Amino acid sequence: MLKHTISELKEALICLEAGQVTLPYPFQPHPPEGEFRGKPVLNSRKCMSCGACANACPARLISIQDNGSIRTLSFNLRRCTFCGLCRDACPQEAITLSSQFELSTVTPEDLSIHAEFGLVNCRECGKVIGTQRQVALVKDKLQTCEPGFDDTGYVDLCNSCKRRAFIHNPALLMEVKA
Ligand code: SF4
Ligand code: SF4
Repeated sequence: MLKHTISELKEALICLEAGQVTLPYPFQPHPPEGEFRGKPVLNSRKCMSCGACANACPARLISIQDNGSIRTLSFNLRRCTFCGLCRDACPQEAITLSSQFELSTVTPEDLSIHAEFGLVNCRECGKVIGTQRQVALVKDKLQTCEPGFDDTGYVDLCNSCKRRAFIHNPALLMEVKA
């Protein structure tokens, strides 16, 4: 019994000598390291709603829905593991990972991100081609690659109507290739 008490006293002395070795979390927040991956943040001004992040998310937390003339991109981060695959897949660098890692909330909306984009339809058949921002980006790229390139005949056609247009008028294809 005495041996046991002495051992405990020794342990208490060692602890007193060591001082405080842990943070008083959650009263004092733990600052994450520089490369820490936390809650994803979407920059909707950069996003073009291409869906690459939705395809990359292993937990299927990102969805895209077309309704009338509007496409909605939604993130539901309740089961997010901060893996960063959505950020890595984004061609627009529109997703960053914040240092926020505490996702507990009584308001589910805190864990949702929604962004809306106007859609463009094929001028021949009316099928959705993409978002206005996607089409604008394609036009910008075409102009950058070939200044003065007249894109009015091709960019607002869906792939099927483009093929049909080229079959009926092969000269158009030569024009694109040239
Ligand atoms: S991958 Fe990037 S650009 Fe595409 S929908 Fe996701 S956030 Fe937007
Ligand atoms: S960080 Fe990972 S789990 Fe979270 S939304 Fe992005 S891809 Fe999905």
